[in-house]
Amino acid sequence: MGIETAKPQKVQHAVLVFGGSFDPVHQGHMAMVQHMVERLQIDEVRLIPAGQPWQKARLKASAEQRTRMLQLAFEDTLTVPFCIDQQEIERAAAQVPSYTIETLKNLRSQLGNAVALNLLIGADQFHNFATWKDWQQIFNLANIVVAARPGYNLQPDELPSEFAALWQQANGTIEDLKQCSFGKTWLETDLAWDISATRIRDELQQQGQTRETTSLIPRKVLDYLQSERIYN
Ligand code: ATP
Repeated sequence: MGIETAKPQKVQHAVLVFGGSFDPVHQGHMAMVQHMVERLQIDEVRLIPAGQPWQKARLKASAEQRTRMLQLAFEDTLTVPFCIDQQEIERAAAQVPSYTIETLKNLRSQLGNAVALNLLIGADQFHNFATWKDWQQIFNLANIVVAARPGYNLQPDELPSEFAALWQQANGTIEDLKQCSFGKTWLETDLAWDISATRIRDELQQQGQTRETTSLIPRKVLDYLQSERIYN
């Protein structure tokens, strides 16, 4: 399957779409969002906490707690408006399988075609991308921005060939992404935060709040997760 050619057009509004488990949200998430907000001149961020993801073991924090942590993390720091979109949590609660393709289709129908959707993912997700439901169609709905992550190779030579071909075909510049509402891809190599929620959860559980873990999570989030006793 090919992809539609994304023609330069007047993008009226640029949205950064960022999904994840956020169990818990950490400085790596915050840094990548703010960095791409500036780089792509984003007008608005949609944060999309996952329901219970089928590819992961059970989450420690509830949907409500993960939503609260996202709010606390971003409310004082993000330089553009954001909202926490509950659609994936709602689908999971209704026991409906939830996929990124559905989320993007919903956003596209809510926001219209003149809005640029920029889907932000980490390099680990980039390697799984061709296992996502209807992944080819994602190129017709959004630009795809991949943030480098230590330990994950960004070279297309390790990707499935069909995916690598589409990726190369869609490869754009930052200017292309600012001008196209979907269909362009970008690898952001300026970031390399060696930080994961898994490591934070393990450290909080085993060692409590060390100086290292406290530097990886915003203070308000730390206070909240401690008061709720989420990871101990
Ligand atoms: P876990 O360790 O539980 O898998 P995580 O740290 O990967 O969690 P998620 O909530 O799963 O965090 O991540 C949401 C999105 O952010 C994903 O696309 C993931 O690839 C990306 N991401 C998270 N941390 C980083 C990082 N340090 N560098 C680049 N991308 C990251």
